[in-house]
Amino acid sequence: MTVGVLSLQGAFSLHHDMLRLNNVTSLSVRDPDELMKCDGLIIPGGESSVLSKLIMKNNLIDAIKAFSESKPVFGTCAGMIIMSKNTNDKKVCSLNLIDIDLNRNAWGRQIDSFNTNLTIFDYSFNAIFIRAPKINSIGDSVKVLSEYKGNPVLVSSGIHLASSFHPELTNDPFVHNLFIDNILHSYESA
Ligand code: GLN
Repeated sequence: MTVGVLSLQGAFSLHHDMLRLNNVTSLSVRDPDELMKCDGLIIPGGESSVLSKLIMKNNLIDAIKAFSESKPVFGTCAGMIIMSKNTNDKKVCSLNLIDIDLNRNAWGRQIDSFNTNLTIFDYSFNAIFIRAPKINSIGDSVKVLSEYKGNPVLVSSGIHLASSFHPELTNDPFVHNLFIDNILHSYESA
C-alpha cells in the first residue's frame, strides 16, 4: 500500500513519519502523476488559502476529485477545509469531497490552541487543535465519529475521513489507522 501525502505546504512531514512508523509506504504528492501512484491521499494541515492556490497551480483540483471517486482521502485541519463543501472564505477552494459546511479558525487563534481527550468509538484519543475549523452543518452522507463540545471534529463520508485536529502531532497512530482501514476496505469493494 502506498499512501500519498500532499506535500505542497504545511504539516506534511509528520504525516510521512506517522505512516512510515506504521510500516506504510508514503509518497510526496505534488502533481497528478505522483497522485496516480497512490492508494490513498492525506491532505495535511497548514494554511487552506495558500494550499488552495498551490493545488490550483499544480493542476490538482480535477485530479484529486477524480482520485476521490475510488480512493480514500483524509484531510486534517486545513485539509478538512479543502475537503469541505462550503467555507466562510472565498479564498479557499473547497473540493466538495465531504458534505460539510464549516468556518475557518472558528476554535480561536494560534494562542487559543488546545488539546483534549476525544472519544473515538470506545477509544480515548488526545487531540491537538490549532486554529481549527468548526463544522456548522453536515449532510446525510456524513457520519460523526467524534465530537467536542457538541461539534463534530472527526467525520467520515464513505471511504473519506476528515479531522479538525492534528493526529500527526501525537505519537498515537489510532486515527491514521482508521484511514488505513478505509484504504484496505476500498480494495475489497473495488
Ligand atoms: N487556520 C488554518 C486554515 O484556515 C488551518 C490551521 C491548521 O491547519 N492547523 O487554513
